[in-house]
Amino acid sequence: MHQDAVDLMYGLLSQPLNPSSVHTNGRKAKNIIERARTQIKELLCITPHSRKYIVIFTSTGTEANNLILSNYRDGAIFISAIEHLSIFAQQNRYHNITTISVDSNCIIDLENLECLLSKSTNTKKLLSVMFANNETGAIQPLKDIIKIARRFDTAVHCDCVQAIGKTPISITDFDFDFITISGHKFGGPVGAAALIAKTNYNIVSNIIGGGQEMGLRAGTENIAAIAGLGLAASIAQVEMQQRIQHMRLLQQRLESNLKNIFPEIMILSAFADRIPNTSLISLPGMLSSLQLIALDLRHIAVSAGSACSSGKINKSHVLQAMGVDIKIAESAIRISTSQYNLKSDIDCFINAFKEIRTTYN
Ligand code: PLP
Repeated sequence: MHQDAVDLMYGLLSQPLNPSSVHTNGRKAKNIIERARTQIKELLCITPHSRKYIVIFTSTGTEANNLILSNYRDGAIFISAIEHLSIFAQQNRYHNITTISVDSNCIIDLENLECLLSKSTNTKKLLSVMFANNETGAIQPLKDIIKIARRFDTAVHCDCVQAIGKTPISITDFDFDFITISGHKFGGPVGAAALIAKTNYNIVSNIIGGGQEMGLRAGTENIAAIAGLGLAASIAQVEMQQRIQHMRLLQQRLESNLKNIFPEIMILSAFADRIPNTSLISLPGMLSSLQLIALDLRHIAVSAGSACSSGKINKSHVLQAMGVDIKIAESAIRISTSQYNLKSDIDCFINAFKEIRTTYN
C-alpha cells in the first residue's frame, strides 16, 4: 500500500462514519465516499460530473465480477479462456457461458470471437475480457475486441484489476460498458474495489438490504477502505508514467539477465504486449512448488500459477488455454514487481534462482 493511503485509513478507522446517517459525521462519511468516486472516475479519465457512468463500491474485484456476470444470467455470456477465476469459474454456476480461445501468447483469438458472437441469436449479450492477464501479464487487443462486440450488439465488461495503474486505461480510448478495478493492485487496500458501469444499464444488486450504493450493493460502507482506494487511485494517476518506467526497467533487467544465464529459459507471452510488472518464466526440470519453497527460504516471494487461488497450486487454466507443454507449465513461476522494488531485488532474485537451479538435480 502507498503510505499516504495507510495514514489516511488509520485516521479514519476510529471515527464513527456511517454515510447513511444524517448527522455531521454521517455527512462527512458521505463526502468521503463521493470524493473516492470522483477519484476513481479521474483515474479512468471519466469526467467527474458525468452521469454516463456510476461507480459502485464492492469489497473485492471478485465481488464486482460476480455482480456483472449475475446480471447476464438470463442472457448470453462470452468470456475468454484466460479470465481470472472470479469470471472463469462462473461456468460452474451459469450454463450460458461461451469461452473464446486464445493463442500461444495468451492473446484472444479475434476470429473465434467474431464467429461465436455472430452465431448468437440472444439479444442480451455480454462479453467479459480482462485488460491484462494476471499470470502472464499479456495485454489484450481491446480496441479491436470492442469494435467486434459493437457489431454484434454486445455489452463489454473489462476486468481491469491487473492492468489498472500499470498501463493507462482511459474511457475515451476504450468504450467499456462495465469495468472492474481492485485497490490492492495499485497501492490501495485489500478489500476495496469497484464496478464502474454505464448508467444506461439497469444493474440488479446481488446483495439486498439497506439500499446503500444507489441500491446496487447493500451493506454499511467501509469508509476507511473506500477512502484508501480513492486516494490510491489519485496517486496512481499522478505516478503512473514514473511507475511504468521503473517497473519496465526492472522487467528488462530480470528477463535479459535470466536469458544470459539460462538461454533455454522460456518467458511466457514474450511476443505479446505485457504490463511492466509481470514475468512468467519457466526453466523445465524443477517443479514450481519446489522453486517457490527454495526461494521463500531465501526470503523471496514469487508465485506459481495464480496466487489468487487461496495459496493452492492448481494446474493453470491459462497455460492450458495457451497450449503450453506440461513440462513448461509445471516449472513456471511468476515474478511480480511493484514501484517499491529496487534493481537490487532483481539481482537478489537472479542470484538465488541461479543458485537453486544449478544445484538442483
Ligand atoms: N481479476 C484479476 C485479473 C485479478 O488478478 C484478481 C486478483 O488478483 C481479481 C480479479 C480479483 O480481485 P480481488 O482480489 O480484489 O478479489
